[in-house]
Amino acid sequence: MPTAQLINELQSCGVRLVDPKAGHESRRGGAGPSDHKAMTLDGMTVMVPVHTAPAFESPYVIEKPDAAGHSTVSRDGIVLGNVSFPARPRFYDRTTADGIPYWKIAVLHSRDVLATTVLQSCIRYQSRTKTCQFCAIGQSLAAGRTIERKTPAQLAEVAKAAVELDGVKHMVMTTGTPPGRDRGAAILAESARGVKAAVDLPIQGQCEPPDDDLWFTRMRDAGIDALGMHLEAVTDDVRAKIMPGKAQVPLARYFEAFKAAVAVFGRGQVSTYILAGLGDPQGAILAACERLIALGVYPFVVPFVPISGTPLESHPPPTAAFMHAILDPLAQMLRAGGLRATAIKAGCGRCGACSALSTYEREPVS
Ligand code: SF4
Repeated sequence: MPTAQLINELQSCGVRLVDPKAGHESRRGGAGPSDHKAMTLDGMTVMVPVHTAPAFESPYVIEKPDAAGHSTVSRDGIVLGNVSFPARPRFYDRTTADGIPYWKIAVLHSRDVLATTVLQSCIRYQSRTKTCQFCAIGQSLAAGRTIERKTPAQLAEVAKAAVELDGVKHMVMTTGTPPGRDRGAAILAESARGVKAAVDLPIQGQCEPPDDDLWFTRMRDAGIDALGMHLEAVTDDVRAKIMPGKAQVPLARYFEAFKAAVAVFGRGQVSTYILAGLGDPQGAILAACERLIALGVYPFVVPFVPISGTPLESHPPPTAAFMHAILDPLAQMLRAGGLRATAIKAGCGRCGACSALSTYEREPVS
């Protein structure tokens, strides 16, 4: 089976680990997709669901890894590929000058990405009627796995150590949406300035479109190299149903903001995260991607993962066939539009671990 298809299968079905302790700590709760574990297949490090309900029933099994972290993935007793697990990062053993374990400030995603949620609270998360139904931003905070507000000094200290000890190559800074019209741009700019003063690390900021496009210049001047503004869903009815709070910012504002942000960050350095499997039809997702690519925005299409404890925990993930029907033509559209994951300076599109998209870009399947 081509690697892209195997990744698609694993990300759709999840995987059962014979040894649940294989690899380092998995992502549980937090902003965006979660309940995954990082694993490397054929040189590609990807995030595969291991703690979701479908993963517990998955036909795919990973055996207990050997002492070097190597294992195999199989289905019905047939070995489909070799798997290895990134080692636990060394920076996790450290504590900040003010006594916070580094892993509560930022975590390792995939194998070389430092990821943090600078503000672990969100105006959209206050009530069940407004919350994005897929999001678990409050869960890791409630469980004591993180702190609510990471200061620029803490972020700088952890980023420097992650580069020096673990060879981290880029950083993702996301934020819950604070009250106020900048929608998180100010806190991202302040955080990026702190990190860049300590270490030369490419940074992607992720926020909702701010009220004023001047924030794009301010964020860039503060040291943000690439920007993510995440649509998640692309049709009005799915947006209203799945993310009623965030849907108050209309799609038209997102597209205006994309255009303005590309003028500041450059073609291919602005991206958006689209969750396939929430109800948007394949054609609607591809039509949105076509429009985005024409603007110079990289559409990072990711299979929806039902996170335990969220209102969508029982919503089925998309099938591998549905993902293939999107990612295969999307990879061709990206090639034709001259956008490449590997050209992005920092962030989810460059990391690529939550989707098989960059593998499709690398090895056309159809
Ligand atoms: S694609 Fe983004 S969310 Fe997924 S592992 Fe990479 S940095 Fe983290």
